[in-house]
Amino acid sequence: MEFPEKIRLCEVGPRDGLQNECRILTLEEKVEYINRMTEAGVPIIEVGSFMSPKAVPQMADTDEVFKHITRKANVEYRALIANKKGVERALACGCKKVKLNVSASRAHNIANLNRLPEESVATFQESVDFATANGIEVSGSISMPFGSPWEHYIPLSDVEAIIEAYIACGVTELSLSDASGMATPAQVNTICKHVKEKYPQVQWIIHLHNTRGAALANLLAAMDAGIDTFDSALAGLGGCPFVPGAAGNLSSEDALHMLDEMGIKTGISIDAVISAGKWLMDIVGHAGDSYIQRAGKNSELIRELPNKK
Ligand code: ZN
Repeated sequence: MEFPEKIRLCEVGPRDGLQNECRILTLEEKVEYINRMTEAGVPIIEVGSFMSPKAVPQMADTDEVFKHITRKANVEYRALIANKKGVERALACGCKKVKLNVSASRAHNIANLNRLPEESVATFQESVDFATANGIEVSGSISMPFGSPWEHYIPLSDVEAIIEAYIACGVTELSLSDASGMATPAQVNTICKHVKEKYPQVQWIIHLHNTRGAALANLLAAMDAGIDTFDSALAGLGGCPFVPGAAGNLSSEDALHMLDEMGIKTGISIDAVISAGKWLMDIVGHAGDSYIQRAGKNSELIRELPNKK
């Protein structure tokens, strides 16, 4: 296996983690979370979303969060949006990067929006045009390209149709999101190699969930395909704690610890991330889903060697 020398981790917990929490964090708590991640050296942070506050009440104050966080020049702060209204809110609060999302599952997209996924992407054009005209960067996300609860497997041609629709809209940073946690390593490796080769103009991000325990294996499989940017969330938050069997995002602590031990650079302080994860679990009031939070770092395990008597 061959891996990139440096990996960029994007902390998506403030959006993907907290939107599933039953307790809504205060503005101050959200700001502290993001500031801690900035201080830890995380290069990309998904601050929240500009969706309807009715649909996602946890993210209703994302505009305020953007106004209160302490930003560092070399850190990218992005938000998830659904349409042009989201870009308008981004513009008003100084958010410089937005992310659109569509499902690769036709059944999912038709059930939700009565549209094929590529038709959904075509409606993104006005958001992209408005964002670009106002100096806001646009990223695109594709949910469930590795499998969906409706179709099980998604034909690669369906995923390609969405990729091409995004490219036609002018979006060339795309994330493949295993929102359903159904991806497996060989499949991730094959698909990542394929899309990297077929669409060399695209900067890829892989978004992993640990629903079936395969997130770290999938991370490695994508790295072997040359992918160098991944989403993760502090304490592995992201699954509703009241849904049996639900699990969250790839834990930032687990991803970082593995990369550190493998000698792969991230620029992030593992100690700062572990301490922020403990703080966050305290705030949300329940344990997350992180091996490192449970077991500690390898380097903490060094014990005195016994002498043979
Ligand atoms: Zn997710």
